[in-house]
Amino acid sequence: MAAVANGGSTTAVAKGSSEGPSTVIIGAGIIGSATAYYLAGSGNTRPESIHLVEASPELFASASGKAGGFCVSDWFETATASLGSLSFRLHKELADRHDGFTNWGYSRSTATSFVEGRQLHTTSDDWLAEGGSRAQQAGEHFISDADGAPAWLTRGRGSRSEIIGDEGGVAQVLSQSLLRLSTSAGVKLHHPAKPTKIDTDEAGNITSVQIQTPDGATQSIPCTRLLITAGAWTPSVFTTLFPSSKLRLGIQPLAGYSLVVKSPRWTRELESKGCHAIFTSMQGGISPEIFSRVGEEIYVAGLNDAQLPLPELATDAKVDAASIAELRRISEKF
Ligand SMILES: Cc1cc2nc3c(=O)[nH]c(=O)nc-3n(C[C@H](O)[C@H](O)[C@H](O)COP(=O)(O)OP(=O)(O)OC[C@H]3O[C@@H](n4cnc5c(N)ncnc54)[C@H](O)[C@@H]3O)c2cc1C
Repeated sequence: MAAVANGGSTTAVAKGSSEGPSTVIIGAGIIGSATAYYLAGSGNTRPESIHLVEASPELFASASGKAGGFCVSDWFETATASLGSLSFRLHKELADRHDGFTNWGYSRSTATSFVEGRQLHTTSDDWLAEGGSRAQQAGEHFISDADGAPAWLTRGRGSRSEIIGDEGGVAQVLSQSLLRLSTSAGVKLHHPAKPTKIDTDEAGNITSVQIQTPDGATQSIPCTRLLITAGAWTPSVFTTLFPSSKLRLGIQPLAGYSLVVKSPRWTRELESKGCHAIFTSMQGGISPEIFSRVGEEIYVAGLNDAQLPLPELATDAKVDAASIAELRRISEKF
């Protein structure tokens, strides 16, 4: 680390500018952390030359830390089908390599659609934004026996369930381990810090990224490769770093509430036999998604709000008590 004068203020310069490529990744959610992890292990990039910049004072305070952790190989539209199966395969390889069951609760999981009363099958590709359910997306051929329904699920009269993912086809993943594996390989985490501008050489090539910590201190990180992996904040980071660009990134925020509960009917003994993902579709347009996970916990989500504005920082998000109360009611019902 060296300190240089910069327009009257003192700016620290991260070491490494004369030592080959330097990669700056903005945003340390699962996408940024996974990118750092695979690049560090690629054999063609020194891990110490990879810089992850994360703005939120709490790590994984947005989607990657609140997600259900459910992944599947083959529920994707044509355009993303190959990426979906690649992602699923990589999740499995990671778990095999690093004992994912112990370290982040990776487990096989049986996915079941569970429907009360008659529901319409959606034909829209954008079922999530429209408040739909994967139970509807997955198909209409519901059967009325209890096969596949987990022991912890309370089923009302007339409810129907169907297994929509086989035992080998569904997995649960938590993302924090990827960041830990990256930093222990040598990747540098700048946290909390935000990028404020890029510097370029005479040819217009990016040479460094300026970052700022909440106390106002600045640092210049050498940069020959820049990745913006800031989830829903990606468009605003892009505009900050490239203010004159006319490019508009088509990324929209979609806020979602979730709750983690315990049940005496979901025990360590049962979880060793495999977890469950339940996709329900209730009367009234609510589509809860309920996942039993390793650690004797059950995750309940499915209440989304596309109207909520994106907060400045992930930690600025406000919890809506009424939505959490609704998820609690749904948890008790099921
Ligand atoms: C309730 C819920 C449940 C979900 N369940 C599932 C599921 O079961 N399965 C599944 O596959 N997907 C699920 N998802 C979707 C999944 O969580 C996201 O697709 C994924 O986490 C996105 O990761 P990301 O790294 O792109 O974004 P994020 O996790 O949002 O990470 C972006 C990071 O960038 C940081 N950042 C923002 N601005 C800046 C800045 N200026 N400078 C530096 N850093 C910045 C943020 O603080 C954040 O840490 C769910 C999402 C939600 C909300």
